[in-house]
Amino acid sequence: MTPFQERCVERSGLGAILGKVLAGERLSAADGMTLYVHPDLLAVGTLANEVRERRHGGVAYYIINQHINHTNICVAGCKFCAFYRTARQSDAYVLSVEDVERRMREHLDKPIREIHMVGGVNPELPLGYYQDVIRAMKRVRPDVHVKAFTIVEIAAMAENFAMTPEDVMRRLQEAGLGSIPGGGAEILTDHAHQVLFRGKIDHRAWIEIAKTAHRLGLRTNATMMYGHVETLEERLDHMRLLREAQDETGGFMAFIPLAFHPENTRLSHLPRPSAADELRNLAVGRLMLDNFAHIKAYWIMMTPRVAQAGLHFGADDLDGTVVTEEIYHRAGSTSPQMIGVPEMIGLIEEAGRTPVERDSLYNPVGAAAALPPSGPRAVSPSPVKPIAAREMAPQA
Ligand code: SF4
Repeated sequence: MTPFQERCVERSGLGAILGKVLAGERLSAADGMTLYVHPDLLAVGTLANEVRERRHGGVAYYIINQHINHTNICVAGCKFCAFYRTARQSDAYVLSVEDVERRMREHLDKPIREIHMVGGVNPELPLGYYQDVIRAMKRVRPDVHVKAFTIVEIAAMAENFAMTPEDVMRRLQEAGLGSIPGGGAEILTDHAHQVLFRGKIDHRAWIEIAKTAHRLGLRTNATMMYGHVETLEERLDHMRLLREAQDETGGFMAFIPLAFHPENTRLSHLPRPSAADELRNLAVGRLMLDNFAHIKAYWIMMTPRVAQAGLHFGADDLDGTVVTEEIYHRAGSTSPQMIGVPEMIGLIEEAGRTPVERDSLYNPVGAAAALPPSGPRAVSPSPVKPIAAREMAPQA
């Protein structure tokens, strides 16, 4: 942080929090609330950027990955979800193991390092299905990292198969599961659970299963879906629970704040969070979650341009190139289904950051890892179009 930026932050009234940030002290819930309600978003972002640059310098990560959504049939019935279908609906689907293999073979020309698979809570699928899907992925690409099945899905499997979540995860690990995505956390409070997603596990179970995964050696991420019925206090409670769990296990890799998209949901009367909200949540996450290594600006949800700005509001990761969106395919859209590597690099460089390709566990890979740190560079804008909310991946 430059002396000029320090003065600006102090003048904005955030001097006390600045002092803690510079001293590396943990912020309190009251600090978090101050950051949420403070009128000077740029000052909040400057604080988050200080932490981000202390951890990662000018680097911004991305991964070449493929998303596959194996089923949209779900019995959880979350009010905020536009993706799920009941088994009787005409557009309900389950991908067979062969379908998954075919989806992957269609993209064998790309150096995909990660398969990200999430889907609905579908009680008709046996444990063998999940194991076979993972094994098929490894058959097609032996080196691919399989990041699959949210904690909510694992909890539902445990219930359906009369097993413990630990045993389910062990069996999936034996099949080749590498890590667990961050979805299903939503807002980790009883109020949000009761109002929005009573059909799936509450925050106690979510945290316990995450900690169990970490003890098994499975790294996980953690999302926070905000902007619906929750209060700011609930967002901070969510972060407190994650921070406490991380103190215990150290198993979370990235925090991923996700703005709620009301279109085509039962909450379609609610307004969508603004880009400013999205940047603030990245920043508050970066500042409050001092024991999380990474903050992800998830471009699929935020749009590439807002995610790009997020690289100056605490985020150090734009996620992946994201090949193949099931909902996207079904919509028959001719819009882009992915960000190509040149566009991803362009987005990062336009923001004055140094792109580094990573694997699922944030190890630098590929030629980008060898690049020296760089300052701001002028590049032509990338031809990336935002993706409509109805075309997004589920966050089960
Ligand atoms: S968010 Fe996930 S668990 Fe909830 S209804 Fe949608 S697919 Fe099902």
